[in-house]
Amino acid sequence: MKVLVINCGSSSLKYQLIDSESEKVLAKGLCERIGIDGRLTHKPTGKDTVSIEAAMPNHTAAVSLVLEHLTDPVCGVIGSLDEIGAVGHRIVHGGEKFASSTLLNDEVVAEIEKCNELAPLHNPANLIGINACKELMPNVPMVGVFDTAFHQTMPKTAYLYGLPYEYYEKYAVRRYGFHGTSHSFVSKRVAELLGKDYSELKTIVCHLGNGASVCAVDKGKSVDTSMGFTPLEGLVMGTRCGDIDPAIVEFIAGKENLDISGVLKVLNKKSGVDGLSGVGSDFRDLSKAAGEGNERAKYAIEVFCYRVAKYVGAYAAAMNGVDAIAFTAGIGENDCTIRAKVLSYLGFLGVKVDDEKNDCRGVERVISTDDSKVTALVVPTNEELAIARETVALI
Ligand code: AMP
Repeated sequence: MKVLVINCGSSSLKYQLIDSESEKVLAKGLCERIGIDGRLTHKPTGKDTVSIEAAMPNHTAAVSLVLEHLTDPVCGVIGSLDEIGAVGHRIVHGGEKFASSTLLNDEVVAEIEKCNELAPLHNPANLIGINACKELMPNVPMVGVFDTAFHQTMPKTAYLYGLPYEYYEKYAVRRYGFHGTSHSFVSKRVAELLGKDYSELKTIVCHLGNGASVCAVDKGKSVDTSMGFTPLEGLVMGTRCGDIDPAIVEFIAGKENLDISGVLKVLNKKSGVDGLSGVGSDFRDLSKAAGEGNERAKYAIEVFCYRVAKYVGAYAAAMNGVDAIAFTAGIGENDCTIRAKVLSYLGFLGVKVDDEKNDCRGVERVISTDDSKVTALVVPTNEELAIARETVALI
């Protein structure tokens, strides 16, 4: 079956058409500047990439353009839309309602709408994508795959904050965690690569991209993760601050003459390694600047790695041990220096890095020595494939 995977943002839409039998990507692409002007980059496998400026007044127009390109006689990869057997949608927040992927019908969509206030920037955009596909492909089954679902197995000890309990009861304020599709995919793959039973392994997954989080997976279940009520908590990220003393919010508001939402904008968009270094959020730029002697860039990298290592240590304690530590996403898959720095803190766990094996990029590989007590690995994530698999499994 051919599955169309859709990841819809407020002004963008990423897509992949995946053949579920061969698990090959037939085409992928990106619509940008939806509602502004519109730009499509369409990459059919084995054919030339198409980049065009095209009017996209709304998401329905964007999906319509994607479907036209998928079926185009020159740059298309399928004869007609009838070949698309299902659509899988990435949905950021499923609240406490969705602990697994779900077939999308009107009732489910209404429930997802109720989660909008928990992810006001993301969920409404995801729903717009669902409605656009429903309008253009009314008879094709659709599945919602939630970033939060994998973490619904966390125990209360991990997901409750030290706040008045009624805030949890009345407003559902708790840790939800994100990147669940990636943490689930990577932790399963770790078990396969090590030839171990998923239900017997203790794995810590470090998803280090522009957004970054660490997850403790014990016996196939997420038992703790560093992102919280929103994706702002936890690691120091590209532009997000991660954990800070909440009292800083009022202090900075007073000093900088900002309101709460102004401070939160700084914490989300102007902090992290970008704010620390003044260089930017991309680790390639940071490494270059650090190599040229930029002290702030050096510290940004050190702070980033130290925070990751602290979480790994904490999660080894949470699970009373750890068998495997996996690195994934843009930085985790590509930056051997960052991996080495993080792992250099973890000698007390018996982690020994093999520098030669660690000198790799974007491949599945064990990067620890044969006598390392904990196996460290690089495992490239593939959230689109995970969504396609979930979609096929459900329909
Ligand atoms: P993601 O959010 O997973 O797409 O990751 C994006 C981030 O990965 C970028 O902002 C970079 O910081 C980092 N990244 C991507 N490629 C490389 C690379 N070759 N070396 C180091 N960092 C990289």
